[in-house]
Amino acid sequence: MVFGRIPTVVDGSEVVRLPLRKKNVSAIYLDNNATTAIDPRVADVIDEVLRAGPANPSSQHAAGRRARERVDQALETIAAALGTKISTPGGPRLILTSGGTESNHMALHGIGDPKGPLIVSEIEHPSVRATAQHQQANGREVRWIPVDRDGVIHLDALASMIDPPGEQAAVLVSMMSANNETGVIQPIQQAAEICRSAGVPLHVDATQSIGKVPVDLDALNAAAVTFTAHKLHGPVGIGGLWLASGVKIQPVFHGGSQQLESRPGTEPVALVAGMATAIQLATAELGSSAKLMRQLRDSLEQSLCRKHPELVVVGQNSNRLPSTTSIALSGTDRQSMLMALDLAAVACSSGAACSSGSSPPSHVLLAMHAPQAWVDSVLRFGVSKFSTMDEILLASERISIAYNRLRRFEDVEN
Ligand code: PLP
Repeated sequence: MVFGRIPTVVDGSEVVRLPLRKKNVSAIYLDNNATTAIDPRVADVIDEVLRAGPANPSSQHAAGRRARERVDQALETIAAALGTKISTPGGPRLILTSGGTESNHMALHGIGDPKGPLIVSEIEHPSVRATAQHQQANGREVRWIPVDRDGVIHLDALASMIDPPGEQAAVLVSMMSANNETGVIQPIQQAAEICRSAGVPLHVDATQSIGKVPVDLDALNAAAVTFTAHKLHGPVGIGGLWLASGVKIQPVFHGGSQQLESRPGTEPVALVAGMATAIQLATAELGSSAKLMRQLRDSLEQSLCRKHPELVVVGQNSNRLPSTTSIALSGTDRQSMLMALDLAAVACSSGAACSSGSSPPSHVLLAMHAPQAWVDSVLRFGVSKFSTMDEILLASERISIAYNRLRRFEDVEN
């Protein structure tokens, strides 16, 4: 590792000594909650479908019929891998979308009366949170479920909000299965019980869970479930919304008869086939990949906490995804650390990826009433099934060096 002076100056004074990236420093990608590298086997399938020729599944000629067959096969594959059946008329359905954001948006706009009360948790991904805030600004009643200090949704609050005496019952509950920042797994099964006994549909954002923990759609007892391919080594730009038997949805887009008019637009056959392969592989290999990810994630946490006992793993008392760690490096500024680590060729995140560029304080940590020092200094690291122990050991060294340097600098400044 080489250290040098960054030529950048802020307010006329030099900022801080940071590691300069040598050309041959190997890059370590630990931002797998933002997106993952495509699995080469998935890339092969996409390549094969793209090269097979024109593919509009709505066309009535042979090429169109082949494309339709490919999409239908892919949907069957996804359904089987996720524990559901979509072949029965009137049974569960899979709607193809452009990804998690669109699926969440569709669920919040399209399930139940869009003017009726909506319940969401305070730690939802911005695609749910901002949609709920937008609806709230336009007059919809939104009830926000708080979380405890370990980042777990308060089920008691859900139970009290769902059908309060003297008030209108909620028409929809939307809740994530695992948080994208902390990795904390939420009590979805119990939430589904509460929703079911109140007769209110539950939408689950399972974007971060598939490929990390078992997901069985039929057993979830939810009304709708969001997923996306690029979090599990599939292509960016394709995702889905599963709907339980009998759940109706209003379309957000109009103007085409595809997907029973629920989501018009030509289905991207190659991406759909790629997503099916990615989900199939993610579920088939879950046992070994989850074990590997947990070993790597735990090693990173242990080695950093051994070197710096003052570090805090956010949500460490909770059940967490095996892949994710969110670490408060108190005494440093998370944006400076992120930049230092980027220069040291370690990719991580200082907030939700969708807000990269600008990074407001984490609404998740604020909802957990975390100390300000954590909010200021938290970084998220996410491993994948392609991460290695060598990378983790090297990343731990680089993080430790950057932390020591920035902490010293901030001590001087303060
Ligand atoms: N929901 C969660 C929990 C996420 O982590 C993300 C992406 O970070 C999304 C939804 C949005 O998914 P997409 O990037 O496919 O739109």
